[in-house]
Amino acid sequence: MSSLATETCAPLAVLGHDVQVPLAGGGKVGYAALDYAASSPALQRVWDDVAAYAPYYGSVHRGAGYLSQLSTDLFEQSRLTVEEFLDLREGDQVVFTRATTDSLNLLAAAVPAGTRVFAFETEHHASLLPWAHAGLSVTYLRAPRSHAEAVAALDAALAAAPEGPRLLCVTGASNVTGELWPVADLTATAHRHGARVVLDAAQLVPHHRVSVAELDVDWIAFSGHKIYAPFGAGVLAGRADWLDAAEPYLAGGGATRTVARETDGSVAVEWRTGPARHEAGSPNVIGAYAIASACRALSEAGFDALEAREQALIARLKAGLAEIPQVRVLSLFGPVSARVGVLSFVVQGWNSSHFSAALSAEYGIGVRDGLFCAHPLVRTLLNDEAPAVVSTCGAPDPSLPGERSLNAIRVSFGA
Ligand code: PLP
Repeated sequence: MSSLATETCAPLAVLGHDVQVPLAGGGKVGYAALDYAASSPALQRVWDDVAAYAPYYGSVHRGAGYLSQLSTDLFEQSRLTVEEFLDLREGDQVVFTRATTDSLNLLAAAVPAGTRVFAFETEHHASLLPWAHAGLSVTYLRAPRSHAEAVAALDAALAAAPEGPRLLCVTGASNVTGELWPVADLTATAHRHGARVVLDAAQLVPHHRVSVAELDVDWIAFSGHKIYAPFGAGVLAGRADWLDAAEPYLAGGGATRTVARETDGSVAVEWRTGPARHEAGSPNVIGAYAIASACRALSEAGFDALEAREQALIARLKAGLAEIPQVRVLSLFGPVSARVGVLSFVVQGWNSSHFSAALSAEYGIGVRDGLFCAHPLVRTLLNDEAPAVVSTCGAPDPSLPGERSLNAIRVSFGA
């Protein structure tokens, strides 16, 4: 696995490949980052772009001075870059947020009253939880075992649902299995029933060219820190109508057109429409600029090349794991399903947390273990397991037959 890790630096230069980490047995080794699905390292180019801009940044949409004008221009150009990167439709808008979680919570707060939301129980918590949290009715669809089953389940659920506004929230690629979801087919089904669709593209955008116009999803959400930009910025992009009709996500400066004290002592507010409506407060201009820089870098590297390389690495990883009889790769859609550079597995006889801690301490390989903020999905996948043996002391312990793994190990990489 370590040679796999050292090969993940091409063709885009990422930071962190020269980081040395201490090993438990003494000495140091180069860090092998294989946890891109949580947060990818920053691209050198993004870091350089941000550093070049840093001495010039100023307030956005607020100042008359040169640096404020420059920053406003860069902020709005960043919006246009994201628009182009996502291949949005005419009239769609890009709202800068803090990350995917924030984007989906924003949309949950913005949908018309009475909207019924449909979500597969396999979603990341960020796309599973905001809807009920915002007081909406949610229909949770059982974990499907094929693309066809997913489409049929949605079709049946929408056919049985009462009239009114409806929204499907679906992931493009699973953060657990890396498997791709049939987004275009699900979207066509949803639209046939008059439902709208939001795509959680947190794990799709770093790996695949995404065209909102072609997929025809109504909204898309992703995070900067998963596409080689720093933390703290994300995107919600798509149709303007529900967003413009909604109460602003946050109340404050920048979201208002006018604010006036009335004679009866109240304060009357006229809110803006467009992205500013949901971007109250001083925006994260560096974050937006970094996202735009990462979008340009990925587009220039070319998704065909990135995908080809990633698929070769996934094939090697799967082939290597297949040689280890104790390993079981987790999959919802079966062994030949298409996936991005994300794969989770369990090792019979090993507690996943101890196994991943050993990878770090003994080899300098950084993976993730746990339930990956997708508890229902991981529990479903682990319950599928043929009886596995779980050691509670970190070493293989075949004296514990019949116990199941409690969590899994995830390897993920990218450009
Ligand atoms: N959706 C998916 C599929 C994810 O993998 C993640 C993060 O792992 C999120 C949403 C949430 O992203 P963030 O933590 O950047 O808000």
